[in-house]
Amino acid sequence: MNILDKFDYTEISDDCVKCGKCKPVCTIFNINQDEATSPRGFIDLLGAYKRDELELDKNAKDIFESCFLCTNCVEVCPNDLPTDMIIEQVRSDIAKKFGIAWYKRAFFFLLKHRKTMDILSSLGWVFQTCALKLDSKKQSALPRFSLPIIKKDRALPFADKRSFLNKYPQNILAKDKKIEENKKNKVAIFIGCMSNYTYTNTGDSLVKILKKLDLDIFIPKKQLCCGAPAYFTGDFDTVDYLVKKNIEYFETWIDDVDAIISPEATCSAMINQDWEHYLHDQPEWKERAITISKKVFLATKWLENNTDLKNLLANSTKQMNASITYHDPCHAKKMQGVWEEPRELLKQNYILTEMSDSNRCCGFGGVTMQSEKYEYAKAAGMPKAAMIKETKAEIVSAECSACRMQITNSLYQADVNVQFKNPIELIADALD
Ligand code: SF4
Ligand code: SF4
Repeated sequence: MNILDKFDYTEISDDCVKCGKCKPVCTIFNINQDEATSPRGFIDLLGAYKRDELELDKNAKDIFESCFLCTNCVEVCPNDLPTDMIIEQVRSDIAKKFGIAWYKRAFFFLLKHRKTMDILSSLGWVFQTCALKLDSKKQSALPRFSLPIIKKDRALPFADKRSFLNKYPQNILAKDKKIEENKKNKVAIFIGCMSNYTYTNTGDSLVKILKKLDLDIFIPKKQLCCGAPAYFTGDFDTVDYLVKKNIEYFETWIDDVDAIISPEATCSAMINQDWEHYLHDQPEWKERAITISKKVFLATKWLENNTDLKNLLANSTKQMNASITYHDPCHAKKMQGVWEEPRELLKQNYILTEMSDSNRCCGFGGVTMQSEKYEYAKAAGMPKAAMIKETKAEIVSAECSACRMQITNSLYQADVNVQFKNPIELIADALD
């Protein structure tokens, strides 16, 4: 299917053979048990919308906003129908018709204005203990009272004192550089907003690993949000701004680096796939996005395939011995095919016990799911917490801060005492 056909609701609706293979794996159908909120139901309704047989009213808005965009359905569909992509697209029509809630507009404004976000994040760090009870070990916080959008009984991430991007210089040169022919040995880091402001140890750990590997590190200071939160919410004006600003900026230095790596599944998938999807009807920008996407990788994938990291870990004198289990973020395994690489690296130093269904969506679902539809996110998170508990692991890992936020809360809700760590943190901890 070419990229323009992927957005043709009529063709997709015609291509759905109604086999129902997508229903048992669908995150929202497993909660709601309603044909309207199943992949083939969404496709059917979108076909009707295209034929002008369905009005985009509040009920339709509610239905289309209940999809988690987990891509479970795409993985099992015999016709590879891109349900998630057409739902992302119709959310733009929804946003145009109904507008975007004030708190989402405020959040997306901050994503576009990093300096303002930096100031608010620092202020948040100073004052957050007034509203939140912090647990530094689990990198989570409990609200002391219910907030306008967020209820009290919920584990949340909290801001760090200094953002990752403000902590390091733009260039960190390798001490013991081994020049290889035709290799620049220079890697750029795309950190992602959550690792920049909240889970900053992930970025610190990535810097530590790259230093151990004697690579030059480039931390592009003017990088902006990849646009994923706005894309999944249908705020295409914000997506347009962020994607194009980033493309223009990346083009000024991309030829100087071997790769752009990110410890975030959602950000890396957004840049190396969804930028192209978003720009499908803007050919010039689409080509520029494709050129960049070839150099963008999830960190464990690039480290495992291009460096000596596995050997370094295997020869480390550190005894870790902690038992861990690994969750596959939807944006890592299903979208980027990354699942072996983090395991291969982690197995060198940790006891890895697989959970019963590591591929099952954790239930994060995006900004709307985490706010207006939080009850769905909470329900989707319970089976994941139960399967993590069954493994008896001390640590659960996934290369995604959205999964981290959701799983940490699900573990709190289910009263399961397991810590979450990004694989990059675990790998850095295991290095001498
Ligand atoms: S993306 Fe996930 S939640 Fe949405 S229809 Fe597909 S399986 Fe269901
Ligand atoms: S698996 Fe694909 S073809 Fe079958 S019902 Fe679901 S969307 Fe339609």
